[in-house]
Amino acid sequence: MNKLFTVVLILIEMTSFAQNNRIPSKGLAMFSKEVAFKPYEFSRHAIGDNDILIEILYSGICHSDIHTAKSEWGNTEYPIVPGHEIAGRVTKIGKNVTKFKVGDYAGIGCIVNSCGECDPCKNGEEQFCEKRMVGTYASKDQYHNNEITQGGYANNYVISANHAIKIQKNADMKKVAPLLCAGITTYSPIRFSKVKKGDNVAVAGFGGLGHMAVQYLVKIGANVTIFDINEDKRADAQRLGAVKYINVNNADELKGLNNQFSFIISTIPTKYDPMLYVRMLKKDGELAIVGVPASENRPILNVVSLIGVSHRKIYGSMIGGIPETQEMIDYSVANNIYPEVEIIPANGKAVDEAYQKVIDGKVKFRYVIDMKTLN
Ligand code: NDP
Ligand code: ZN
Repeated sequence: MNKLFTVVLILIEMTSFAQNNRIPSKGLAMFSKEVAFKPYEFSRHAIGDNDILIEILYSGICHSDIHTAKSEWGNTEYPIVPGHEIAGRVTKIGKNVTKFKVGDYAGIGCIVNSCGECDPCKNGEEQFCEKRMVGTYASKDQYHNNEITQGGYANNYVISANHAIKIQKNADMKKVAPLLCAGITTYSPIRFSKVKKGDNVAVAGFGGLGHMAVQYLVKIGANVTIFDINEDKRADAQRLGAVKYINVNNADELKGLNNQFSFIISTIPTKYDPMLYVRMLKKDGELAIVGVPASENRPILNVVSLIGVSHRKIYGSMIGGIPETQEMIDYSVANNIYPEVEIIPANGKAVDEAYQKVIDGKVKFRYVIDMKTLN
């Protein structure tokens, strides 16, 4: 009985230690699906022995933030602080942490925790964790009382050190944040499909993700064609090294493109006809789907139509694991591959406007919030 009493006391003490040591945080949140960001104060779980506290310097705006914040993928719980493209500086470390020291630059992408024990985790594919990865925001954190995570449009983040990414001292911090999602989500399928020099490849959707895909593919030495709906981006395509720019709204430009490409990546965030791109694949060619349109706007694939263009492959790709994200950051910084960014201040009005401009196709190419300007 005495033993049980002691155990209960210890548990109570541990819980209250964790409660008392929660980390106060402030950020920008949406309180309903109408876009209107407002200041929001909340707290994050205590810094465990294997965790680090990061002071957030910059936070990118991904189209996934918009889909989630507007509840386009399902039932988003409010308030929500989005943001999974995070670049910052380590300000505290747990007692077991050796990967980082205070003062280091660090990045956070879409994964903040995973079991570390299943086969995918052991293979460095934490995005496929069999016990479910914990997402950076809007995700139930099973390692911390199932609390819902809040993202990076905020002043700080507490993350398991194993899931944070090391950022070199010489990195251009203003531009690093979008690599943590837009970068890895395009780098990963390009590697998975083993794209090589001289391949004819294409990028559908020339936005935040798409312009990263173009840069990685051009660096490899592939011949890149871009598909988009926006006439204003034609000159940018050439500037980034693409050989061709196709406005898919112009039927004439689409002629003669079937059986041309060994690899196509689709980042399109809305309804489109996937067969348009399947038909453009050469035999054995691969179409990687990374765009995740709203639930009400999902593209539909008529499977029978695949028979007429047999032996082409289609696969989905979700972000990338932690080791591959580290590899991507090291590669991008070493090769000076960065997103083109527009820096905005950390206030509700600026983020509201940025969301509308992403939806209207008026951003080139990624908004990044300067979190140091948060009041
Ligand atoms: P952006 O809005 O920055 O880019 C989307 C681009 O697609 C824009 O350039 C847009 O044109 C273009 N576009 C829209 N419709 C068409 C069309 N019919 N044909 C060709 N191009 C089109 O979004 P992001 O790059 O940030 O994200 C893209 C998608 O990827 C989103 O759905 C996002 O949720 C998803 N995503 C998926 C991840 C994964 O792990 N699989 C990770 C991160 C994001 P315009 O400029 O005119 O608007
Ligand atoms: Zn993203």
